Amino acid sequence: MYNTPNANSDSGTEIFESFGCDVFNEAPMKKILDPHIFCLWQESVKHRKSLPPSIAEPMAEAMKHWALSRGATHYSHWFQPLTGITAEKHESFLDIGADGKPMLSFSGTALIRSESDASSFPNGGLRATFEARGYTAWDPSAYAFVKDGCLYIPTCFFSPSGAALDKKTPLLRSIEEVSREAVRVLRLFGDKETTQVTPFVGAEQEYFLVDKADYLRRPDLLLTGRTLFGALPPKGQELDDHYYGVIRPRILRYMRELDSALWRLGIPAKTRHNEVAPCQHELAPIYSTVNAACDHNQLMMELMKKTAEKHGLVCLLHEKPFAGINGSGKHNNWSLATDGGTNLFTPGKSPMENGRFLLFLAAFIKGADEYQDYLRCTAASAGNDLRLGGNEAPPAIVSVFLGQELSAVVQTLIDGIEGNCSMTIGIDPLPAVPGDTTDRNRTSPLAFTGNKFEFRMLGASQSISDVNIALNTIMAHELKWFADRLESSGDFISDLHRLIAQTFFEHRRILFSGNGYDDHWKIEATRRGLSNHQCTADCLQTYVDPAVVSLLTGHGIFSPEEFRARREIHRENYGKIIRIEALTMISIIRSQILPAVGRYCGRICSQLREKQALSLPCQWEERLSARLSALSDKLDGECIQLEQLLSEVPEHPKAKAFYYRLKVLPAMEVARGTIDHLEAITEKSSWPFPAYSDLLFFA
Ligand code: ADP
Ligand code: MG
Repeated sequence: MYNTPNANSDSGTEIFESFGCDVFNEAPMKKILDPHIFCLWQESVKHRKSLPPSIAEPMAEAMKHWALSRGATHYSHWFQPLTGITAEKHESFLDIGADGKPMLSFSGTALIRSESDASSFPNGGLRATFEARGYTAWDPSAYAFVKDGCLYIPTCFFSPSGAALDKKTPLLRSIEEVSREAVRVLRLFGDKETTQVTPFVGAEQEYFLVDKADYLRRPDLLLTGRTLFGALPPKGQELDDHYYGVIRPRILRYMRELDSALWRLGIPAKTRHNEVAPCQHELAPIYSTVNAACDHNQLMMELMKKTAEKHGLVCLLHEKPFAGINGSGKHNNWSLATDGGTNLFTPGKSPMENGRFLLFLAAFIKGADEYQDYLRCTAASAGNDLRLGGNEAPPAIVSVFLGQELSAVVQTLIDGIEGNCSMTIGIDPLPAVPGDTTDRNRTSPLAFTGNKFEFRMLGASQSISDVNIALNTIMAHELKWFADRLESSGDFISDLHRLIAQTFFEHRRILFSGNGYDDHWKIEATRRGLSNHQCTADCLQTYVDPAVVSLLTGHGIFSPEEFRARREIHRENYGKIIRIEALTMISIIRSQILPAVGRYCGRICSQLREKQALSLPCQWEERLSARLSALSDKLDGECIQLEQLLSEVPEHPKAKAFYYRLKVLPAMEVARGTIDHLEAITEKSSWPFPAYSDLLFFA
């Protein structure tokens, strides 16, 4: 067994010694595996080729050997079903030999493939109900790791007919697509060395921490992840005194232990700080390949929650745990780099490099404009609906921010098309674009930040896979568009210039550098013909948009059935979440709020009678009991209304999604207003829940 990390020390030595110690990465592989097998594995991962079958047995043996030395007793195929979180089923290494004695075994077959009962995972109609099986297959490009005494093997998850039932399979497909098309483009610029282009991602993760004892007394947090009511405290985040503020000792102890746990799993946790809202924090890792980043973000969310438990805390990853207080998002920093280490979003030094950079930039802008609805849809969820567009997160309108210098370059090219001036890429040197002087417009949903694009729309609890599948595929599609045209060009430089300038010109509407929170932007965006999907119900039409379907099926990311299934799941999930919230609210009103207010009102009434008997002034009791009674009646009526609405939900899936959004959520808002009013006039000790001030400002 290994030692448990010392949570009180995050000394440099500890990072150095423990980083990746629970990961079966190249270091243990090199030590344990036959060099020939190691090379075979390395080559197939590097060139994204399927593994020779001969690898399976020795690899499984090496993994078992290493995992046992790290204290593992079990192994598990670890996958990312369409629930958005991860799934695992542990099997012990125990076997009984022919001699009846126990032995430890792990075969190549067990490593490569596993069959499991998948009947309760969302499948969106991809599997007949009688067909309960699902398969998992090892993803050799992601490292296995040991956690809590179990060897985790990252896998893809699919149905017996081969349809993807997870978030990893389409991600891997999209990585191959963007790599192939990017290499085609690089060849046009004379690059003969690059064989692979890989998307890199750094996902900044926001979260809230609340005290566990308080949390347990909030059934709304417990059941739905967010507060469904709660009067605003006199002080919230107005003073901005939490942002980057001194981290309290209890929180710091949590952060240290979390960092330690992440480092052991090879997750390069880098920054930690207090966020805008009280008790809100952020953690950002150093970026890694998109496949690793998606696995890591899942593990990070899991460890954030688990570590909190040990500190008497609860980690909330909901997008909007508290109304009136900033919610939590996730920034997805995305870039493309060659196997030689060149970041393709780095402005170049030579005219040719600048041309390449501008082509990649133009492809991105073209894609962001053409597939803005699809990008928006990847951030759509019931939780994130409560946050996007609310002066704390980017608006629901997709636009691209380039920063001053780059905007000027792009504008010069657009001006050229409009006949105002001319500039030739590759002949006239383009103005140098400094690496990272962008002023980081925080209100932009998709910002260029020097050498990467930062997609800022995601909600804190969402898997980052969907948006990266979208970014990779859109980019693959647009790079293909350029490559198709330029490969057959007779005059590369002038056609390159023309295509780039034309692209900036045609897609200039998606470029926006102003304040995204400003209401004028909404009007301006409508004038430009940009979409502004306010809610998930509205976004779901993207799944039947012929352009999006053709993008995804054309590049082999999803079969039409796979994509249709994802729409079903997205839509079902949305309705289910709001339904659970509404039912939770009804139950709390009926079983806790109305009875508590009734008891309190009863006490005030007895006090009133006592005072009346003594002929003492008692207007306060009279007024208060009248208000409590009137508001209780009002709340009862609103609860009946909500119950009524829930009994009349339409059957049709599309109508259902809109019904929840347009009928049920507003009715919940009305009831919430009354509850918050009641909380404000009820004696604190009679109110059965911790108040916002208790939850937000715990010691
Ligand atoms: P900010 O808060 O200003 O957005 P952070 O430093 O908190 O910036 O986060 C930036 C994230 O972007 C980090 O996860 C970082 O590793 C990641 N990142 C940096 N360079 C790249 C790159 N080339 N590709 C992808 N992600 C990157
Ligand atoms: Mg950021």
